[in-house]
Amino acid sequence: MAISEQELLASVPTGLLIGGEWVPATGGRTFDVQDPATGAVIATIADASPEDGIRALDAAVAAKESWAATAPRTRGELLRSAFDLLRERADEFALLMTLEMGKPLAEAAGEVTYGGEFLRWFSEEAVRISGRYGPNPEGTGRMIVSRHPVGPCFLITPWNFPLAMATRKIAPALAAGCTVVIKPAELTPLTTLHFAALLREVGVPDGVLNVIPTTEAGAVSAPIIADPRLRKLSFTGSTAVGKKLLQQSAEQVLRTSMELGGNAPFIVFDDADIDRVVDQAMLAKFRNVGQACTAANRFLVQETVADEFTRRMQERIAQLRVGRGTEEGVTIGPLINAGAVDKATSLVSDAVEHGATLVAGGEPLDGPGHFLPPTLVTGVPEGSRILREEIFGPVVSVVPFGSEDDAVRIANGTEYGLVSYVFTGSFPRGQRMIDRLESGMVGLNMGVVSNAAAPFGGIKQSGLGREGGAEGINEYLETKYTLTPDPFAV
Ligand code: NAP
Repeated sequence: MAISEQELLASVPTGLLIGGEWVPATGGRTFDVQDPATGAVIATIADASPEDGIRALDAAVAAKESWAATAPRTRGELLRSAFDLLRERADEFALLMTLEMGKPLAEAAGEVTYGGEFLRWFSEEAVRISGRYGPNPEGTGRMIVSRHPVGPCFLITPWNFPLAMATRKIAPALAAGCTVVIKPAELTPLTTLHFAALLREVGVPDGVLNVIPTTEAGAVSAPIIADPRLRKLSFTGSTAVGKKLLQQSAEQVLRTSMELGGNAPFIVFDDADIDRVVDQAMLAKFRNVGQACTAANRFLVQETVADEFTRRMQERIAQLRVGRGTEEGVTIGPLINAGAVDKATSLVSDAVEHGATLVAGGEPLDGPGHFLPPTLVTGVPEGSRILREEIFGPVVSVVPFGSEDDAVRIANGTEYGLVSYVFTGSFPRGQRMIDRLESGMVGLNMGVVSNAAAPFGGIKQSGLGREGGAEGINEYLETKYTLTPDPFAV
């Protein structure tokens, strides 16, 4: 029988996980977690202090040698058991994400699948950490290149994909033999706590994974980052916070991975299959109610098809249903908080002031909950803020363009470079666009690119490093080179 909301919430740990124990925060401090669809408090959990953060790092340091020495096969099999158990409990995790973050249940179930794939992928990668061995060019020695866990890692995750952002970091770190301290977002800590309990259940040893939700992200993180025992920071969140953390990391010359903001162009040429364009545009825009770093932020549509694209999108938008993510048939849940609604609506107003036309939506719904109906603006002029800033909401902004060169210029005219989407029926043009677009990922006639087997990440101010794919585990490994005398020369 399906678990009820109350039973599920009662089963989620409310403490900090430090050294294998669920413990209260220093001084018994707690904070509330709310359902963004209703504003109701759904849990009260421990609120880590800076001292708690250092205690968590102590635990990760204490466990680092034994975890690094644990056989790769054992590490991989623990991750595989976690994958299997997560699949068994997929409904629970989906419901928990809907409750704390708001996304519709079907999407939350999709995130459980996507997030789980990182466990499966890295369970397989754990046993493929290899090196090189060979003669030096002079023939006087043998060169050994080996790879080793970087050591204790600090992982900071955002609220928009509460499970997948955690598994995308925890799985490669553990596979590589690193111990971790994870700080989930204040708005959505429950999924990480629940997932940590699952990892404990499958046998992840004490101290290998430590979890410290907190309302004081900056004050708790800074001493951990400043501690010379920490060897790696992996952050997913906004570019502004990422830059601050990079500055702090410079002090210890810390290894960093930065998955930051995006401003994805979705480029439609007039030779594209319009049915496919519209289907994929709906996914690229409305997945997670637009609250994704990979969300299409700017729809650049060739002038000859801009009206048809707008009309078709308007028809599709009219079919979406706004409501609490737990309700049957709801496709658009709430935004994460009131600030998110204000930001998206102010970007729409600015575009309209610049001369854009509001075709649908634009007005938030009355509370409770933070709902903005799907919104469509067309003819957005180039100076508008909506084209420079992340919307992070269900807003389609259409910018008509003339030539391929215009599309490339507008698409690349941003400090971000995470992902670009291109729709064209021409193979040579598609290949040219891959070369010309300044982004770490390209969806060519595809509106979603995320996959555990692929190197996810951005260029320019969208980040450093890659998560997932064969590259993902490298972020948690150091390369060591050893020279030995040639065995025939000694
Ligand atoms: P955010 O405000 O940057 O927060 C991200 C995380 O950083 C949260 O855990 C937050 O804690 C923490 N944080 C905030 N200030 C900090 C500080 N001074 N020191 C240490 N940690 C700090 O971003 P968000 O609003 O949660 O997430 C949305 C952003 O994430 C968007 O820009 C989106 O594009 C980006 N994102 C990128 C990717 C990617 O893979 N490239 C994926 C998903 C999201 P609190 O929750 O307590 O504030």
